[in-house]
Amino acid sequence: MSAHEEFAFDVAVIGAGPAGLSAAVAAAERGAKVVVCDTGTQPGGQFWRHRPESVFPEPDGHGHHGWKTYLDLRARFDAAISRGLLRYLPNTQVWMTEREDAGRFVLRLTPATGTAIEAATVRAAKLVSCTGGYDRQLPLPGWELPGVMAAGGIQAFIKANGTLPGKRFVVAGTGPFLLPVAANIAEAGGKVVAVCESASLANWLPHLGAASGVPGKALEGAEYAGIFAKHRIRYRTRTVVTEVLGESSAKSVRIAKVDADGAVIAGTEQLLEDVDVVGFGWGFTPQVELAVALGATTRIDADGSLVCVVDGQQASNVPGLYLAGEVTGVGGAVLAVAEGLVAGAAAANGEAPSAGTARQIQRHRRFAGAMHRAHPVPEKWDDLLADDTLVCRCEEVSHGEVVHARVELGATDARTMKSFTRTGMGWCQGKVCGFAVSCLSTKGADDAGTEQASLAAFAKRPVAAPLTLGEISTLDSRQPQDS
Ligand SMILES: Cc1cc2nc3c(=O)[nH]c(=O)nc-3n(C[C@H](O)[C@H](O)[C@H](O)COP(=O)(O)OP(=O)(O)OC[C@H]3O[C@@H](n4cnc5c(N)ncnc54)[C@H](O)[C@@H]3O)c2cc1C
Repeated sequence: MSAHEEFAFDVAVIGAGPAGLSAAVAAAERGAKVVVCDTGTQPGGQFWRHRPESVFPEPDGHGHHGWKTYLDLRARFDAAISRGLLRYLPNTQVWMTEREDAGRFVLRLTPATGTAIEAATVRAAKLVSCTGGYDRQLPLPGWELPGVMAAGGIQAFIKANGTLPGKRFVVAGTGPFLLPVAANIAEAGGKVVAVCESASLANWLPHLGAASGVPGKALEGAEYAGIFAKHRIRYRTRTVVTEVLGESSAKSVRIAKVDADGAVIAGTEQLLEDVDVVGFGWGFTPQVELAVALGATTRIDADGSLVCVVDGQQASNVPGLYLAGEVTGVGGAVLAVAEGLVAGAAAANGEAPSAGTARQIQRHRRFAGAMHRAHPVPEKWDDLLADDTLVCRCEEVSHGEVVHARVELGATDARTMKSFTRTGMGWCQGKVCGFAVSCLSTKGADDAGTEQASLAAFAKRPVAAPLTLGEISTLDSRQPQDS
């Protein structure tokens, strides 16, 4: 099959994580001809990432939650493939989405790794975009040292390889996600020197109603508490890492207590020595680029992320475009599965969710809102930055340069900041520094619209992945064959 061949389908699904798997299964089981494009080499996404099935054909789900759900979805996914209703394109990245005059969606594809690809283009009447998210990072002195990782990166490393990227870990940032990361490190044989949570757990008190709506989360928390006790992991609240120290790689970290705004409390600094991996997690950034390129309406969620707006059927404002999972708001895998099932059914035949499913989604969204409010990014996080701390690592732009551009040159939004300093214009296109640059550019602005426009500046990327010139040359007007 030539890479220039095109396929046409009823429903295209981008992503094979909890949301994408569910959407694909729901659509195929309603008789739609479905294609799933996913950058992963096997289904599962971030949450159910597991060791290569070519080497470990029967993963046991160790270290995973909701593994039974995965096995059920996977069996239905495989059955749909066998029945010829579902075409799965792994190791395939969608680099651009467009909508033709006839209303059909066109997906341009590139191999995620290597050069082999089954088709360069897919066309579909409906599109369900379930592209998930990635770890939100904040700069601080020493964050560019080898040994500093995203907390999700550590988690992905363990799940994909069954080994650890180091020996002695500090996990820091905010949110319940720090708990499974530390627990998995300890269960895999690593030493967790400390978990530094910037928030106070008392922040949950106003949100107990929302928390009680999802009792499974409390049980999960109790499970982590047991693992922390077993491995003697120190969980320090209202504590941040202020600096990572080391010559050629991370060797130690300085930590300190912070007040409710995230300002360091003088005299509380402490050095944690003999640390070789520091994992930071400040929540997640939803990957909304493909949906934004199609014209999807966005809003700022309670965690400060740019997310897409959907209705009760997961439909966006763009006719035929459905969205599920982290792209509609960071809320965890259970919510992503529920949203995926609704989106897939709606894309296949316009079916509305049952009242029970709608209530489940509502409860999980309320929980997610509570979680974001209880674990905010500390307001004064940038107090930790020195003038020479790199903010954009790709283009090596320092905090001092960003402040100069804002204060002296009037770069008070991320788009202007990009053009003045080149922040976010390197290889990662702002995936690492985007949130921080947006916060630093709009600092002092009291208009929520400025913040949204600033984040949108990083999400407006019609070309969502690095490409070769050869791939760009495949952009032609040939008509698709039916699959
Ligand atoms: C690194 C990482 C580790 C995580 N680990 C945990 C954990 O241990 N516990 C926990 O509770 N939560 C974890 N989370 C959060 C959790 O993964 C999400 O809540 C959940 O997976 C959301 O499901 P989703 O289907 O929306 O997204 P995902 O699971 O992220 O799935 C999205 C899929 O879309 C694919 N994709 C994205 N863009 C494209 C594109 N352009 N073309 C083709 N495919 C694309 C991705 O490769 C991925 O397979 C983690 C998140 C990250 C980023």
